[in-house]
Formats: sequence, structure tokens, C-alpha cells
Amino acid sequence: MEPIVEPVIFTEDTFDVHFHCSRKHDIEETIELYTRIMKLIGLKKFMILCAAFHSPTKFNYDTNLKSACVKREMSPNVYVSASFKHNLDNSIETEANSLLKQTEEYYQAGFDGMKMLEAHPTLSKYVGMMCSERFSKAFAFLEENNIPILMHVADPRKAWDKSKCTPWELEHNRFYDESLPTFDECIDDIMDLMKKYPKLNLCLAHGGFLWEDTEKSKFEKFLGDYENTSVDLAGGPGCYFAQDPDFFIPFITKYQDKFIYGSDTYNSAPYDYANWEYDIQYRPRCARDSFAGDKKNYDYAGDKYDGMNLPKSVCRKVFYDNAIKKWGETPRKIDENWLMKELEWNEKFYAEHEFKSADLKKMRKLLEK
Ligand SMILES: [Zn+2]
Repeated sequence: MEPIVEPVIFTEDTFDVHFHCSRKHDIEETIELYTRIMKLIGLKKFMILCAAFHSPTKFNYDTNLKSACVKREMSPNVYVSASFKHNLDNSIETEANSLLKQTEEYYQAGFDGMKMLEAHPTLSKYVGMMCSERFSKAFAFLEENNIPILMHVADPRKAWDKSKCTPWELEHNRFYDESLPTFDECIDDIMDLMKKYPKLNLCLAHGGFLWEDTEKSKFEKFLGDYENTSVDLAGGPGCYFAQDPDFFIPFITKYQDKFIYGSDTYNSAPYDYANWEYDIQYRPRCARDSFAGDKKNYDYAGDKYDGMNLPKSVCRKVFYDNAIKKWGETPRKIDENWLMKELEWNEKFYAEHEFKSADLKKMRKLLEK
């Protein structure tokens, strides 16, 4: 591999709350890749968002374990939000109790909060909306203990309009037909959730797509009416905010304690080193240039933007302080006993699965050293 280059995006303390851990790379490669990414981007801290439930047929049960192993190895700079294991055959009551038990277990084990992809329409189709009975006990516990949740709700509005989807999106099931909840149903579910649990410590990924609402009244209500709500900038919204500076400069300044930097970065491989470097920098650069920069007419995914040039004090909060306030100066300590117990559970579960058991062997080696 090529030597590590100097950090190219951030030179001040930066905390990225939106990283993922794909199953494409084993634990050793993953730790090596994250280490390179941190150095390249200039990150001080990041948080891995686990996703155990991708579709009714695609479960990724070792994700909490693997991410916790990364957190342990890269301490004290990696935080992890755990994800739920669902059983779609169980009754709602059994599941409600299971999700509560899991929430308690992950928190006691030393995770830093929960990640929920379940409010994505392709998943809520199977597990129900956030206000449904299945989630009620878990949310009550999360609210009572002020445990942060990072949640992905909805998707870009155009995903519900076939005529606006690209051939790639159509091929990859990114068009949502009438069998799925609509964009507004997804958003309204979250607004109702906040009415039910007004102190919920809830951060919506990708700006919650609330910026898609032309009136912005739901965005205003979500951030303004509840004390513990926030949004992250992952993906495009950092740039989209920059497309409407007249609205967003005062809006972000008003809610400067509630915007949190995230990039949606994966442990992807440097197969082609030059392109990999460019890809990994792409989203962080967009967020930095839209918020902190004064560059005019820069390109992001084919569209042109002007930097909003927000005050340094606001950028400092968005790129570091707000995340530290929510998730702490140091990550919570992961419980060694839980790691071994979870490893054994996964070893049994994936005994017949070649790729997984090879990765689990490496995790065992790492935990026993
Ligand atoms: Zn993501």
C-alpha cells in the first residue's frame, strides 16, 4: 500500500458521527482502512452506525460485535451505535419485550447509543412504523435514560416518483411504490413519535430529509419544539443547504447546537488507490466547503453550489462540539464479557458460513490477545 498522506480535509478537531462497517472486509482490513481514512481526512473521532437488519432476508447479526471490536482496538476515538436484531416470526408483544431487553443489554455492554435504519420505508413495511407497539417499550427506555438514537427516516422525496428515478435507481429498488409508506407518512410518524416521547434524544440522519419540505415547517418544529433533537449532514444535505443560503444561513445559525457533522463513509477498499482517496474525501469536502467555505460555484454530484461561509464558532459546534456534547468526550467502555458472549453466539450462528466464520476467527484472535 502507498504511504499515508497528510490530512487533506480537516485541520481542526473533527468528529464524524456517520460511518458504516460493511461486511466486505474482515476485521483486520477494516481496522487498517479506518485508520487510513482517519489520517487521510484528518478526523479525531468517528462513530460506526450498525445495521443488523437490511431486508426481511438480509440479516447481518455480527455487525454489533464487529463494530465493538473496532471500538475496542481503536480506543478512545471510535464510538458505536448498536442495532436491533429483529425476529419477524415473533408476536408484536414478544418483539416489544425483546427490543427493550436488547436496548438495556447494548447500553450496559458499553455501546454509545442506538442506530435505527428501521424508519426507512423498505424496512418499516415489515417492522411497522416507529409509533407502533413493537418499538414502544424500547423508546420509553431510551427516553427515560437519555440514550442517543441515530435514525434514518424516509429517503429523498423523488424516490416515490418513478419518472424522477434513474435507471440505476430503478434497478436497485430505489423506487418506492404504493406498497410502502409514503414520504409524508414516514416524516409524520417521526413528528408523532416526538409528541409521544418529547425528551427523546433523537438525531435524524441526512437531515431527516426534512429539508425536502418546501415550507420547512416540520424541520422548524422538529428542531424547535424538542430539547434533545438534532440532525446529521450525511450524504448530500450539507450541500443542499448551501443551495438555499437565504433560508439556511439564519436557520443553521438559530439551531447551531442541533446540526452535527456526518459523512456516510464506509470501510471501502483502496483497490485503485488514487480513486479511493478521491472518493473518501468527496463527501467530507462537500460538507466542509458548504458550511465553512466561501468558494463559489463548486461542483457536487453534477450540481453547483456556493459555500455558506458560516461563522467559525458555528462550524466548530457542527463539526465537533455538538457530537461531543451528545456522545461524550470519550466513548463508553465496551464490556469484555459481553464481547466474548456475543462472539460465541455468532460462532454458533455462523458455523456453516465460510466468510463469516473466517472473520469471526480473526475477531477471536484479536479479543484473546
Ligand atoms: Zn448511512
